[in-house]
Amino acid sequence: MKDKIFSFIDNSVPLLVELETELCKRPAISPDAGGEGELDKCVFLEAWLRAQGISQLERYDAPDARAKGGVRPSLVATIPGKADTKRLWIMSHIDVVPPGEAGLWQSDPWTVVQADGGTRPDGTPLGPRLIGRGVEDNQQGLVSSVLAALSLVRQGIAPSHTVKLLFAADEENGSAYGIDWLLKNQGTKVPADLFRKDDMVLIPDGGDSQGVSIEIAEKNLVWARFTTHGLQAHGSRPDQGANAHLAGADLAVRLHYGLSEKFSDHDSLFEPDYSTFQPTKKEANVPNINTIPGEDVFCMDMRILPRYPVKTVLAEIDRIKAEVEAKHRVTITYTTPQCMESKPTSADAPLVKLLSKSVAEVYGVKTRPIGIGGGTVGAYLRNEGIDSAVWCRIDDTAHQPNEYAIIGNIVGDAKVMALLMTSQC
Ligand SMILES: [Zn+2]
Repeated sequence: MKDKIFSFIDNSVPLLVELETELCKRPAISPDAGGEGELDKCVFLEAWLRAQGISQLERYDAPDARAKGGVRPSLVATIPGKADTKRLWIMSHIDVVPPGEAGLWQSDPWTVVQADGGTRPDGTPLGPRLIGRGVEDNQQGLVSSVLAALSLVRQGIAPSHTVKLLFAADEENGSAYGIDWLLKNQGTKVPADLFRKDDMVLIPDGGDSQGVSIEIAEKNLVWARFTTHGLQAHGSRPDQGANAHLAGADLAVRLHYGLSEKFSDHDSLFEPDYSTFQPTKKEANVPNINTIPGEDVFCMDMRILPRYPVKTVLAEIDRIKAEVEAKHRVTITYTTPQCMESKPTSADAPLVKLLSKSVAEVYGVKTRPIGIGGGTVGAYLRNEGIDSAVWCRIDDTAHQPNEYAIIGNIVGDAKVMALLMTSQC
């Protein structure tokens, strides 16, 4: 049976090129990034899957007035298995990021180009590959999951457990219209048992060029936007004002060093192996040099080891903020555009063991569990108690110009997924 499945996948290269090409033609950029959303791409994918013989399809539309059709659609394909307990999900996302600076692309980002030859920066040869925005992030995982499913469906092989392919909206901008929406609306706009605690989820949207890293944990993520309210004055008369920029800068420095010192543990699952507290975006204040700003805005990106509850970190932020307010005679408010905790999946979970075995069988490599910087879709699922692992074999060209996907990786990853679908656990 394995030979039959693998040879189907090996013979599916023209099909995968076709699917990648068609998906790439339909930019599914979030309205948050100036696009019209996922509708065209989702409608195409649904029709394509149906034509290929995957017929059990449901679409769930998160309302978003900014997007084409007023919706952000996610699609679920079901392949009934011999058992319906412990269902295996493979979750990819349909949305892509904008191409970025056009001059850095050697071809049209929305037209798939095939290439061969050349080497990576480390000198290893690059195999045959596809180039275009989204071909790797996340169409590689999407297409691999489809090939794996087709290798069963088209040959009359039932998976050992029911397989669910999820093609989610809105991964690149926080998942409020994607996985987060689906989980929050279970029992109302989405079936109550769409996800079950016993389900396992593979997320083929992160990895390394050998396919050895299986991500099972992530840092807690907090993005914060601080607004400092002071008193505007002439540059020569700071005595008559309250410098919001100075106070904001003082806060940024105190938060960076103070939080790093207070939450200073190390954990080797992660890289870097400590919590990070970085001042990032700085918004413009006054347009001229000789005015003391009355208002100032800066942001911080914080990635915190899972052992530290977010509320403990927020309490420390509040304490430091109060010190700065008193010292500079300003008031400071803040919002958290992203704020999420993440429970890890166990390295001994059946999903992780099975994945490790399947990767060894296809690629001949030994995997290792890792944790990452945070803010991925895995956290939403893990927080619901659903085992989730992020894995695929990629060069990680996501979000770069001339993004590419190695055809051999799409094929190999499809074999790993097909092994998962047909394994007992
Ligand atoms: Zn992605």
